[in-house]
Amino acid sequence: MPELPEVETLRQAIEPCIVGRKIVDTAVLKQKIIARPQAETFCSALAGCTITAMGRRGKFLTLQMDSGDTVILHLRMTGNLLAVPADWPQEKHTHVVFSLSDGTQLRYVDSRGFGRFWLQTAGEQDDFSGMAKLGPEPFDPTFTAGYLQKSQQSRRRSIKECLLDQSVVAGIGNIYADEILFAAGICPTSPASTLRPKDWRAIAALTPQILQQGISYKRRTARQHLEGTGKKYSEEAFLQAYGRAGQPCTRCGTPIERTVIGGRSSCYCPHCQPVPGRPKK
Ligand SMILES: [Zn+2]
Repeated sequence: MPELPEVETLRQAIEPCIVGRKIVDTAVLKQKIIARPQAETFCSALAGCTITAMGRRGKFLTLQMDSGDTVILHLRMTGNLLAVPADWPQEKHTHVVFSLSDGTQLRYVDSRGFGRFWLQTAGEQDDFSGMAKLGPEPFDPTFTAGYLQKSQQSRRRSIKECLLDQSVVAGIGNIYADEILFAAGICPTSPASTLRPKDWRAIAALTPQILQQGISYKRRTARQHLEGTGKKYSEEAFLQAYGRAGQPCTRCGTPIERTVIGGRSSCYCPHCQPVPGRPKK
């Protein structure tokens, strides 16, 4: 599932290929991908609009139109965007195709088909996509240790669940939650109420750093993005905890352990991230 670094690097790769271009035609090949309004209305509203910017908020992407309308997109599990010449062979599971004035096509590809588009017309309030409920961006000055401590210290749920809650902080998923907590030396199962001020400070400082590292690691040009289509980017060199169960901790050599929190697999080092109430390994 794409998290903030994947969504941001996708935005950076696609934006230069589409900004300033006019939407000549929109084809919706799978109706349910357009959550709002009906696909037909969605297409007609965008006809003739020029894309002025591509933005990101949490894991959402936005396309700003010169009409004042905004297309909102969430990639969910497997959504992806490609900017290709119109004669480029169409990938399997292509669900939406925007034909642009310079001959480029912006294509939405999604094998699982859980991703969704919304159209927010000029002046309309977004009470439908979920974007308005997001907490601060990890790079926002309001994302501080004080904010985290104040909003989460009375919670009995685990710190990992707090980080995954998009209304607490926007953009973090399973992979980066594990990486942030590894860097901070905090066990993902620790109840939020047991964290000390220095733990909140570590999380607030390390979250933007780890996400920025992910962005730098995944940054790619439009061409590289296209060539990487369908290929999984190798993340082994970058990830310290996620997906490394049984492998030695890069800091202390203790085997990384795996546990399940709220149905999600979580990896941590039992020595560097001591489990609350259990003797340190
Ligand atoms: Zn360790």
